[in-house]
Amino acid sequence: MATARLQDPLLQHARPAAIYTEKLDHSEVSHLTRHEQVLPAQLRSGHCNKLTAYQNIIDPSIDAMCNKIKCLLSPYTLEHWLQKCPATQQQRLAILDTTNPLLNILTLNRQQVTVILYARDILS
Ligand SMILES: [Zn+2]
Repeated sequence: MATARLQDPLLQHARPAAIYTEKLDHSEVSHLTRHEQVLPAQLRSGHCNKLTAYQNIIDPSIDAMCNKIKCLLSPYTLEHWLQKCPATQQQRLAILDTTNPLLNILTLNRQQVTVILYARDILS
């Protein structure tokens, strides 16, 4: 009897396809608390209550725009927070070693702890 291997289909949507370029190795973050592991999972989904663009979906009375003093340019989405916000450009350079990281930094196993440090610094 032949056995078929199950395989996930290719991701159809642009954001998940850009984020999930490699399989997550949860052992890389197993030393973190559950609370520390939740934030990057929320960011990968784009459904993070620390992002005003997401808050605006839940409650339209909340302004979706970035509220950083040096910014106020666009909705505070995952992409804006991680790649584009001019107000946090220096923190990205200092912590992530680049001002415009690719979205897959959220799933690169060797970068997960670094992204958590950046998230704590910017989103807290
Ligand atoms: Zn901004």
